Amino acid sequence: MKCPRCDGNKIEVIATSPVGNVWEVYECMDCFYSWRSTETPHIHEKFKLKKEQIENLQIIPPIPPLDK
Ligand SMILES: [Zn+2]
Repeated sequence: MKCPRCDGNKIEVIATSPVGNVWEVYECMDCFYSWRSTETPHIHEKFKLKKEQIENLQIIPPIPPLDK
């Protein structure tokens, strides 16, 4: 199995259907994209990520402390 967004192959099952064995949710350990086994995600070329892009992703700025 490959990640639909970055083509990574480190995919983990992060959830399964509570009743029966109907679906699983997968998550890519490289870009953290997740999807359900019952969908067939199609990522537009524009939103695909390459390894270099993932490594260079900006860190989300921390929320500054509230003024007292
Ligand atoms: Zn990925």
